[in-house]
Amino acid sequence: MGSARWWWNYALNLCNETYKETGKGLSRVALNKVLPKLKKEEETAWLKECYSQVLQSTTLNLTKAFKNFFDKRAKYPRFKSYHGKQSCQYPQNCEVVDKGVKVPQVGVIKASIHRLFEGQLKTVTITKTPTGKYYASLLFDTEQETPEVVQRVKVTGIDLGLKDFCITYNGEKTSKYANPRHLKKHEKNLARKQAKLARKKKGSFSREKARKLVARVHERISNARQDFLHKLSRKIVDDNQVVVVENLNVKGMVRNHNLAKAISDVGWGMFVNFLAYKLEQKGGLLVEIDRFFPSSKTCSNCLYQMSEMSLDIREWTCPSCGTHHDRDENAAKNIRAEGIRQLSVLGTRTAAEGGEVRPKGGRKSILRHSPVSSEAPTSA
Ligand SMILES: [Zn+2]
Repeated sequence: MGSARWWWNYALNLCNETYKETGKGLSRVALNKVLPKLKKEEETAWLKECYSQVLQSTTLNLTKAFKNFFDKRAKYPRFKSYHGKQSCQYPQNCEVVDKGVKVPQVGVIKASIHRLFEGQLKTVTITKTPTGKYYASLLFDTEQETPEVVQRVKVTGIDLGLKDFCITYNGEKTSKYANPRHLKKHEKNLARKQAKLARKKKGSFSREKARKLVARVHERISNARQDFLHKLSRKIVDDNQVVVVENLNVKGMVRNHNLAKAISDVGWGMFVNFLAYKLEQKGGLLVEIDRFFPSSKTCSNCLYQMSEMSLDIREWTCPSCGTHHDRDENAAKNIRAEGIRQLSVLGTRTAAEGGEVRPKGGRKSILRHSPVSSEAPTSA
């Protein structure tokens, strides 16, 4: 892990410096060519001790990070710290053995394996959390093909909120799912432990101990959040074949300070990712509709559009048809209808029209965009 981290930082720095000089970055091949040279130099000869494919995986992940940045899916790649999460990746030649995982050069690492898969073991990623726990994530190729045709399609629209985590509408009824506020529950505890950590002398043993306690609270919050998001996305995907969400710009909204903490806490981006891959597994479809679609200020009954609708208005009555709306419920209905409209534009018929859906392969769907640039949180 140390070697992988060092190489990530070295390669990232090399990309930055090269860009400054030439205006161009470095490709994966170009970066990998640097490795043999480093191994020959006396100062960095210790890189030889690291399994070479681990370093090449690091190169691959760095170039992926750059691609995500240029595609505006992620921030600029950052240097990795010794104190953060550590990881290394074996792209092949690993094996699950009795009570452990066997990786090249290191040998058998004792592990409790939660469940077994049929199929070929591909990538093994080993991580160490800041609290000192080790995890291995195993990627298997099961040679299962993505299910092609789904019949009797149920479509649900989801409005992501703050008061409630989300509101769903499936054509018959709306359901509200409360926001668990993981951070809030642990806030006092976290503040107390952070204050304690700040008082400890740098480099001391007790500081390291205090740092671990803080890291443990963070870990607990993130585990609780993921657990909630996994269970909710599982339930929604089990009940539906098509899920429509708004393509939210979480980053832009987090810039609004009043909302920042609450939004970072709810983990919308992660939720949409969980929905996407779970739907893909069963041949369903995630439809992301444009974030400029006025889902909140359009009447779902008569399509009358209000000119303004500030965030604090929770209920309203349509001046055109007189329907009384719950803000989020109305938005979920509009989102669902817009998703169905977009699918029919693409020639995909849904249950609402008595047809079936033929998804074109999960996340690569042309309907799915990544959140980019900015939008004022008050408008939609
Ligand atoms: Zn109306």
